[in-house]
Amino acid sequence: MKQTLIRQATLYDGTGSMPFAADVLIEGETIQKIAKAIAPEAIDGEVEIVEAQGLALAPGFIDTHSHSDLEVLRHPQMRHVIAQGITTEIIGQDGSTVAPVHDGIVKELADNMAPLSGVVERPYWWRSYGQYLSEIRKAQPCTRIEGLAGHGTIRMYVMGNDNRKPSPAELQRMKELTAQCMEEGARGISFGLIYPPGSYAETEELTEICKTVAAYDGIAMVHMRNEQDRLLQSIDEMACVARQSGIRMHISHLKALGMRNWGKVREALEKLEEVRSEGIDITFDQYPYAATCTGLKVVVPPWAYEGGEQGFQARLLNAGEYRRIAEETQEEIAKRGGAEQIMIGTVATEENRWMEGLRLSEIAARRGQQPADAVLSILQEEGPSVVAIYFSISEEDVETVMQSPLHCVCTDGIVGAHPHPRAYGAFAQVLGHYCRERGILRLEDAIRKMTSEPARRLRLWDRGLLRQGMSADLVLFDPATVTNINSYTEPKKSPEGFAGVWVAGRRRL
Ligand SMILES: [Zn+2]
Repeated sequence: MKQTLIRQATLYDGTGSMPFAADVLIEGETIQKIAKAIAPEAIDGEVEIVEAQGLALAPGFIDTHSHSDLEVLRHPQMRHVIAQGITTEIIGQDGSTVAPVHDGIVKELADNMAPLSGVVERPYWWRSYGQYLSEIRKAQPCTRIEGLAGHGTIRMYVMGNDNRKPSPAELQRMKELTAQCMEEGARGISFGLIYPPGSYAETEELTEICKTVAAYDGIAMVHMRNEQDRLLQSIDEMACVARQSGIRMHISHLKALGMRNWGKVREALEKLEEVRSEGIDITFDQYPYAATCTGLKVVVPPWAYEGGEQGFQARLLNAGEYRRIAEETQEEIAKRGGAEQIMIGTVATEENRWMEGLRLSEIAARRGQQPADAVLSILQEEGPSVVAIYFSISEEDVETVMQSPLHCVCTDGIVGAHPHPRAYGAFAQVLGHYCRERGILRLEDAIRKMTSEPARRLRLWDRGLLRQGMSADLVLFDPATVTNINSYTEPKKSPEGFAGVWVAGRRRL
């Protein structure tokens, strides 16, 4: 069996305790031994030696919110993930999974998935959740992938894009499909309560689905219904779901959007602490940036997407409906800070490539349109997949949220021609900028939030700690130099300062 000896690194073991210098022996897929000194002569058989003095060695990072659902099939090397020390990714986020799917919705589902996960050459060649997971296994990705079942997808499977309550029989069918996903390997359920059709669900429906997942000891990860004016009410809603279903609840990318809501994260954190004190297991993650990233279509009112992409495109052609959609789109643009605070990311067509990396205000001016009209014509020309970056979070809030003990780190990585820089740099941004430069977190705490914390939440008992017998998922980096070097204008640079990454004992960097 292949053996590797990493010598005299400074070990950050994932618990948050003080680092210490030691040798680590990897044998096959696991950590065989950790000791103050392991003599190479004392090791049977061949061993590769890595001299690591002055470098930090930590458990591989666990990204609790990733959109690599299709990227893992397109580019299983996952270079942008490995390059920032991530060894496990949790996919199937925001209610949006590529399975389960049936022939009747496959085209619509692929449209729905496009802004967050991109496309593959044909939608899709699997049907059940288990079949999709086995496609991932076949691709042999360099990172470990763990998946959630997406409530939005399951709802679409049963009810299409209908904006209504499910009948008792439909709800029962959704629960059965959820149970089947859990049986086939899902770690929990995700909700995306701003994304149609998942956003059409009322609290009661979410609670019922969560009861099914809780019976499997799965987790619920949720993009809440509102991260703006109704942030606190949205937390109440999820607390209520957790209370009534008994599920472990994890809020995705906690933040307060829009200037008039800045500072509300303090109340949000207090509320979460209160809920915890009731004995409800509620936690959250965060990507370490003051800008969000998702489809451009989120500035369009959800009712306009009733009936899916087709329904939306048809409404744009009706003058009366167009006017209503444009008005509400303009309101949403204003709430997010105005057109100067929205950057167009990746587009689909060559003709509009010039827009990538430009602000909506400039694009609208060049096109001679009002911002809302520009958004609607872009969505008309491009279809559903356009990605946008919204500069609508306060930097102070980012730091406040990061310091909570309930926090862990995620990328929310969405790849594409012009991504948000978090996809390539989130973990280095925390280590370099927030730990070393800003002093917001101690390095050992930051590492705990990237390793044992997420492992515990997901019940991934074989990773997240440096311990004998654990999976040899390891990251070696220089705390003095680790730096995220990418930016909103140059978002695809991998960070500096990483010296080695092992996934189940195999060196990947
Ligand atoms: Zn997301």
